Amino acid sequence: MRTLYTTSTRTAIVDLLKRDPRYLTATAIYRILRDDNPRLALSTVYRTLELLAELGNVSFRTESNGETSYVFCTDEHHHHAICSVCGHVDEVDCAAIDQFKSALMAQQSFELDDHSIEFYGRCARCR
Ligand SMILES: [Zn+2]
Ligand SMILES: [Zn+2]
Ligand SMILES: [Zn+2]
Repeated sequence: MRTLYTTSTRTAIVDLLKRDPRYLTATAIYRILRDDNPRLALSTVYRTLELLAELGNVSFRTESNGETSYVFCTDEHHHHAICSVCGHVDEVDCAAIDQFKSALMAQQSFELDDHSIEFYGRCARCR
């Protein structure tokens, strides 16, 4: 029973994150899911999010108040375009970085190994 319960929590969290692609804290996720599942514990939400992060199904960031927030991610390498108005997160592919990498090498002899980029702007609905 315990496994089943955990699995259904995991499904509910993944469904929510897919439906609402914004960075959400564990507390926010807990509050939304609790409506349908009054027995849900905040600790279960935390544990499930940690597991999903380990599996690479979500990425996370630290908010200014120190809370961790999570967003659903596909397996492919990508970046996030984040709407400054509503927080909507779009996945952006990375093709432009290859050009940037060549330019860094040509102009500054810098060899790029890894990168982490977020884009900020306004989504289609908020323009
Ligand atoms: Zn992502
Ligand atoms: Zn927006
Ligand atoms: Zn990239």
